[in-house]
Amino acid sequence: MSIQVFDSIAALRAALADVRQAGSSIGFVPTMGALHAGHGRLIEQAARETDCVVVSIFVNPIQFTDQQDYRLYPRNLAADVPFCSALGARIVFAPSAAEMYPQPPRSFVEVSGVSERLCGEFRPGHFRGVATVVLKLFQIVQPERAYFGEKDAQQLAVIERMARDLNIPVAVVGVPTVREPDGLALSSRNQRLSPEERRIAPVFFQALQAARERIAAGVEDAGEVRQAALAVLGRQPHVRVEYLEIVDPAEMQPVDPIQGPVRVAGAVWLGSTRLIDNVLCLPGGLTPAR
Ligand code: AMP
Repeated sequence: MSIQVFDSIAALRAALADVRQAGSSIGFVPTMGALHAGHGRLIEQAARETDCVVVSIFVNPIQFTDQQDYRLYPRNLAADVPFCSALGARIVFAPSAAEMYPQPPRSFVEVSGVSERLCGEFRPGHFRGVATVVLKLFQIVQPERAYFGEKDAQQLAVIERMARDLNIPVAVVGVPTVREPDGLALSSRNQRLSPEERRIAPVFFQALQAARERIAAGVEDAGEVRQAALAVLGRQPHVRVEYLEIVDPAEMQPVDPIQGPVRVAGAVWLGSTRLIDNVLCLPGGLTPAR
């Protein structure tokens, strides 16, 4: 069956009513497009676990804190549609900003606490925009299951909490981060790195690995773990650290001492490109990097 592409909410709803009528389950993968193998992993898992996979492609203006970043965000629908199709998606929903926001929105979802630290601190309003658009998309698609990457661990925690707090009947599924062979997490933003920046970029994952090794070796002092990661980043003067924190994986609040599972999460700038990444760490034992 060939893939269907919708830009209208009403037409998508009508098609999904037929899908539900036929007794098929719906899996949903929200994205901002410029799709790569990281998104691909989410689509593949959704296709294994549900009958009809819907991928949304929407660069959501209300989650950008910088208009320049919104304008420059890569867009490539012509390549994204066949990519989704090849991985087993049945529907692409690619609405315009006017379709999603016919009038300036007055209603927003705020997930307090979980949204405050890390990216929330440096991108005020970002998670409000994310939670709001994801709730809108959940209302439109009404999926049984929705797939989010652990690469954006705070986003995943925000959406999990929103779904629980607001009794949204969807299973939120986290999918491990897909990386380049040198460790760099796949991201649509990687396209913006110069060759020199791309060469340096793996130092970010190396720093997170250094933290993970300390935690696995039994170091409980969060400050010491943090310093170990910062020391690795410090070897590259072109990397500017925005934040690097050790947090509880669900609450996204700082943890010290480290006595249970934590995420070491960071944001760094390479020139004008901002990269985020994180790893899940367990004290006293190395887990596979995710
Ligand atoms: P984005 O298009 O950047 O908004 O991402 C859409 C979804 O893909 C989000 O749930 C991301 O966490 C996920 N994603 C992006 N990059 C990766 C990656 N390298 N590995 C796994 N999931 C990813």
